[in-house]
Amino acid sequence: MKFETLGLNKALLEAIAMTGYTDPTDVQMRAIPEVLAGSDVLVSAQTGSGKTAAFMLPALQLLAEPHKVAPSDKGAGPRVLVLTPTRELAMQVTKATETYGRKMKRVRTVSIVGGMPYPLQNRLLKMGVDILVATPGRLLDQMQSGRVDLSRVQMLVFDEADRMLDMGFKDDIDAVVAKVPADRQTLLFSATLDNNITAMAGNMMKNPVRIDVSGHKTRHENIEQRLLYADDLSHKNRLLDHLLRDTEIQQAIVFTSTKRAADDLALDLINQGHAAAALHGDMKQAARTRTLENLKRGRLRVLVATDVAARGIDVQGISHVINFDLPRQAEDYVHRIGRTGRAGRSGIAISLANVRENFQVKLIERFTTQMIPVITIDGLEPKQKVFDRKPPGKTFNRKGPPRSNSNAGGNAGAWSKDGDKRSSFSKSSFGKPAFSKSSPSKPGFFGKALPAPAPKSDAPGGWKKASSFAAK
Ligand code: AMP
Repeated sequence: MKFETLGLNKALLEAIAMTGYTDPTDVQMRAIPEVLAGSDVLVSAQTGSGKTAAFMLPALQLLAEPHKVAPSDKGAGPRVLVLTPTRELAMQVTKATETYGRKMKRVRTVSIVGGMPYPLQNRLLKMGVDILVATPGRLLDQMQSGRVDLSRVQMLVFDEADRMLDMGFKDDIDAVVAKVPADRQTLLFSATLDNNITAMAGNMMKNPVRIDVSGHKTRHENIEQRLLYADDLSHKNRLLDHLLRDTEIQQAIVFTSTKRAADDLALDLINQGHAAAALHGDMKQAARTRTLENLKRGRLRVLVATDVAARGIDVQGISHVINFDLPRQAEDYVHRIGRTGRAGRSGIAISLANVRENFQVKLIERFTTQMIPVITIDGLEPKQKVFDRKPPGKTFNRKGPPRSNSNAGGNAGAWSKDGDKRSSFSKSSFGKPAFSKSSPSKPGFFGKALPAPAPKSDAPGGWKKASSFAAK
């Protein structure tokens, strides 16, 4: 199917062609005609699926026509309101709007997010807005000061609604929605459609068309997932340093569970010669924006991030995601690994775990309905034994003896979903760890030798000034 068949106007089709998209993605194919027909839609789709265009293209098309109810209204309030959980996602949506709307006349898109200076926001709001992209907390703040009038809103979009609920925005969302006209069109996008989301949709939507393009089972086929057992923090650090020295890594996001850990780890990595920086919610907005810009421009090779801060990052150079700490929730695992494998590319996601975290691993595997094959690195194997792990859906057999070998890779590799036998890495003759693999069946990253670290001055791709991006 081509974009031309979806019912989009000429200005949008031209902008799509300029952007280089040839065919609509699944979510675009299914959602755009429904939204153009005026239906409310409840969509289950991941980031990376093209969901932004799925709501923004019809939103822009709406703006090509005068306001149905108040065509002569000179009010400055937005006609489209997009709510996102994080500043980063809001900015990304704003940027996408500018891209898709570049052939249209005078579409003013403003983003209102926390951490942005009020005077600037106030000025932007005064100048009139067609599309407002906002995080709920700051929007509510601005509404309470009387600077935002939502009475002209015709389309309300929730982007990553599940995340907004997780982040405790429920009350803010209710307060915002109460000020939006009841006859609006509502679009809700969420990675998962659980009971909370369905309840939210029940309150806010009218007979929504349900579109599911992201069954857990079919997701992330382009992302190789691996599990690497670590005994303790120092073992984890050595494993991470080893992994990051792979030249196959174009750019990587390393996830930690706390902001403090992100700062500390970024600093350690910089000291080890990696072009790294931290990204988390305690940083000033200007610093976050600068760090993301450095990542996008390839000046950073490793971003050490927390879940919230990394939400919505869309950088195609991210070839690897490394979970230095496991996520607290299984859903977060899916969001994390979705930072790689963007726009049809392939990616690699490696999780570091302690055997005591097997329960968490199991929850993740149940959620994704995929087992994560275990790998080891020669010379850096875990000392702890990993007992038999069972495929998702079955319970642990904690008493069961290790199947073939006392180390983690030996056991877990035995039941990896794709028949991929134990992968391992070996030390090179120079004493530096190098990848090797006991089964040659799987090409790519896991079979590659790891070189010694590139000195900073030799670092490719313009990221040699690593230390200047260090998190404070
Ligand atoms: P999203 O899920 O909206 O964050 O989009 C993920 C990535 O896919 C972004 O880099 C988009 O530019 C890209 N993208 C969106 N739609 C298409 C399409 N139809 N063809 C190719 N790339 C697309």
